[in-house]
Amino acid sequence: MTKNDKVYELLIVGGGVSGSALFYEVATYTDIKSVCLLEKYDELSLLNSNATANSQTIHCGDIETNYTLEKAKKVKITANMIEKYCLQHNYQDKIMFKHQKMAIGIGYEECKFMLKRYEEFKELYPYLEVYDKQKLEQIEPSLIFDKNGNGRDEEIVGVGVKDEYTTVNFKALSQSFIDNAKKNKDVQADIFFNSQVKKMTKKDDIYMVKTKNKTYKAKMVIVNAGAHSLFLAHSMGYGKHFGQIPIAGSFYKANKHILKGKVYMVQNPKLPFAALHGDPDVTLDDNTRFGPTALVLPKLERFRSGTYMDFFKTLQLDINILKIFYNLFKDSQIRNYILRNFLFEVPYFGKLAFLKDARKIVPSLTAKDISYAKGFGGVRGQILDKKNQKLMLGEASIDTGEGILFNMTPSPGATSCLGNAKRDVQIACDYLGKKFDKKKFEAELEEEQK
Ligand SMILES: Cc1cc2nc3c(=O)[nH]c(=O)nc-3n(C[C@H](O)[C@H](O)[C@H](O)COP(=O)(O)OP(=O)(O)OC[C@H]3O[C@@H](n4cnc5c(N)ncnc54)[C@H](O)[C@@H]3O)c2cc1C
Repeated sequence: MTKNDKVYELLIVGGGVSGSALFYEVATYTDIKSVCLLEKYDELSLLNSNATANSQTIHCGDIETNYTLEKAKKVKITANMIEKYCLQHNYQDKIMFKHQKMAIGIGYEECKFMLKRYEEFKELYPYLEVYDKQKLEQIEPSLIFDKNGNGRDEEIVGVGVKDEYTTVNFKALSQSFIDNAKKNKDVQADIFFNSQVKKMTKKDDIYMVKTKNKTYKAKMVIVNAGAHSLFLAHSMGYGKHFGQIPIAGSFYKANKHILKGKVYMVQNPKLPFAALHGDPDVTLDDNTRFGPTALVLPKLERFRSGTYMDFFKTLQLDINILKIFYNLFKDSQIRNYILRNFLFEVPYFGKLAFLKDARKIVPSLTAKDISYAKGFGGVRGQILDKKNQKLMLGEASIDTGEGILFNMTPSPGATSCLGNAKRDVQIACDYLGKKFDKKKFEAELEEEQK
């Protein structure tokens, strides 16, 4: 067999944190003997999994006030996998970091909500603590004092934890997945960079995956191409019941530690994205980064040219999509939110508008304290469910049952990378007639922390 005739058992499209996690699990927990990953760019995780593209948060559901208890139970399991993986490989303070974290309620209604939520969630997260104003003065003073040193008038309460792993550099995590996968010399684990998949077809049970210079062959394909996954699915005639709207997120950064840890706010349940928050950024010496914003953008990649046509094709504009937009826009709160997020991008005025919102967290914040974080941010490919005429808030996956899967991974897709990969290796092993070592997986990545 010449090299060109090589048929991989599994081919993964996309070298973000999802594709890399899957590559690792295939090499570590299955008896699949050959796996190949094709990445469009010359490095792993240059798009949404880049450390500057996202908020670096392990979303485990304890302070995410927009998660129901049901959703929190699910994300807790996958978030725990990240922590277990990093502890197993000794990545503390290299890839995974500890910061204090909390969600705050401001004013009577939000404080009442936070305390009620605490009661409901404390069994699932027994480490959670309630911080009153006095305690917050000690542990996160910027939440309390204005620039003249006066205390905040409104009621405020925080619910959080001081000593848990909260933060991950997901790009570094991706690299570690690949490095560790390659340690298994029994598996042919190949990665090809600068290999954008242009076309995929199936011939005699084998997928032909075409890049500019070469065609790769595989028995099965899993597409983890972030905002591009649905585009590739559509190009093969799958997932036409979904459209996609790219929502970019930008950030403002400070050049000091304004906050000691992560501070999230209460989510307006009508709004599709997490409320603005402040986080220590591990790429900026833990200086505080505020954001993200939520800006509708007609392209699939934030800081690279092109992909406008890909956006338009993936939107799948028709009467159902228009109906979804109409329903979103007719709600004044959502409409104002969308328009305000456009404003955040406008030089000078954007900063003033953002400052007003960020002062809800840090009352003393001034225009001098923050600057627009150029080059930071990514694109959340939010899925539009045409059948039910709804904007879907989380991730989505298309399992065609024909040996090809497509994963769409808006937030918290980085946190759930190992959990999603577990689901996919099980599907792959069933399809290929291979074994998934579930026991080893559970022992290493799932058992409860002591
Ligand atoms: C502003 C913002 C904040 C976020 N904050 C968080 C957070 O705090 N915590 C969290 O868990 N999640 C967060 N997320 C979500 C998280 O970033 C994503 O869910 C995650 O990075 C998705 O990883 P991925 O590998 O699936 O996709 P990506 O990281 O987008 O990777 C896809 C890869 O596929 C490649 N690719 C695309 N098309 C092709 C092709 N045709 N051929 C070959 N390769 C291709 C791309 O080059 C890229 O490397 C945030 C997202 C945004 C935008």
